[in-house]
Amino acid sequence: MDQKEGLLSWIEENRSYFIDIAEALWKEPEISYQEENSSRLQKSYCKRMGFRIQELDSIQRYAFIAEAGSGKPIVGLLGEFDALPGLSQKVSPKQDPIVAGGPGHGCGHNLLGTASLAAASAIKQALEKGRLKGTVRYYGCPAEEQLGKPILARAGVFSDLDVALSWHPADINTVAAYSTNASIELSIRFTGVPAHAAQVPHLGRSALDALTLTGIGVEFLREHMAPTARVHYIYTSCGERPNIVPAQTSGAFQVRSPRMKDLLPLLKRVIDIAKGASLMTGTEVSYITLQGCYDVLPNSILSDLLYRNMEEASLPEYTAEEIEFALSLASTLTEDQKRNTLLGLGLDAKTADQLLSQPIHREIGYWGKGWTIPASTDVGDVSHLVPTAQINTATYPVGIGSHTWQATASSGSSLGMKGMLYAAKVLAGAIWDLLEQPVLVEKAREEFRRTAGEEPYVSALDLLKGF
Ligand SMILES: [Zn+2]
Repeated sequence: MDQKEGLLSWIEENRSYFIDIAEALWKEPEISYQEENSSRLQKSYCKRMGFRIQELDSIQRYAFIAEAGSGKPIVGLLGEFDALPGLSQKVSPKQDPIVAGGPGHGCGHNLLGTASLAAASAIKQALEKGRLKGTVRYYGCPAEEQLGKPILARAGVFSDLDVALSWHPADINTVAAYSTNASIELSIRFTGVPAHAAQVPHLGRSALDALTLTGIGVEFLREHMAPTARVHYIYTSCGERPNIVPAQTSGAFQVRSPRMKDLLPLLKRVIDIAKGASLMTGTEVSYITLQGCYDVLPNSILSDLLYRNMEEASLPEYTAEEIEFALSLASTLTEDQKRNTLLGLGLDAKTADQLLSQPIHREIGYWGKGWTIPASTDVGDVSHLVPTAQINTATYPVGIGSHTWQATASSGSSLGMKGMLYAAKVLAGAIWDLLEQPVLVEKAREEFRRTAGEEPYVSALDLLKGF
């Protein structure tokens, strides 16, 4: 048997270990920054497998690196394991939470971390047998849903990588050739003067007026910003009682734009609106960065490599029950909802309609080149430090998007597990090629040097200093 084929069949032979991990994570979903058991479960598997573990709790709670091999090149696999609040759901095509209002794996991160771990484990075996030379690292990255990776990126834990690979559960099999929006979220706080709202309102200065005017200002801003940009906001604290002029309020304001350099001037305009609101109301304003991430910088050398490996690894086969489950789950959404999920990944309308005629995607695409999806991922920060590329595999029925109860159902089902194992094989295959042909690493790094430019990376968390 071809040695690389042996690598992929190792994953197949050990599939039950990885399915057990993914199912255990799915059954005990933990939201961002609470992933104690999810992290421990993955770490204990890595320890059993003989990986060298580096705990990163002092940088970010529950983060760790599992490493095998030695020397160059160093290839990183990014893993995540956090769930989302409110998306608890059984493996059922009807909305039926396990715990009403509880968390669930509606972004499939139980599969995400586990496939990357499976790929790292397969490469470890090959390194130990002397078939490959180099280092493989699995990064246990907490809190993707709250953009956790920039904290690790700022601490330099990715900086000595030669390349990084990752993937994300989705409804299609494709190289994720698209970029994503850069994003920064601020907490804006106002401090006013409390007063009896009926007796002496003229003595009060309302922090809620300031917050409301900031929201209104943002609504007027919308007409005069690039249509590709996004501003979202919520009011997080609005006062205690209507009969007291509110003295303390706060809101979370998130600004997104295809590139960080365009995001910063827009964010400055939002801050100016808040400053104007404070002037109008006689209140004090302050702001801090809550979270932020860069756009994803694609790398075509690595994307092409992943595509070749998507072709080499066999796509999953599905049973009649799995197809039935996929059809029932997909029938909970309208055709328009499903079409828009596909269009959002950079597919054209004709291709989207073709795909919608199948319950599970059973081909391989190379979509999204030159496209920026409106959502954001903290993989963006890694992609500005080292050449990075990602794939999507079909872990949900066609047309189902992440952050839905349908995605939770699918991520706990055998559909999800099959998409996960396919992703693991593609990632392992791509790393095999990188370690066997270091010239690919060099080419990816050459492209990165061209596209990343000369500007040194500054964490999105630090960009507001000096504003
Ligand atoms: Zn996700």
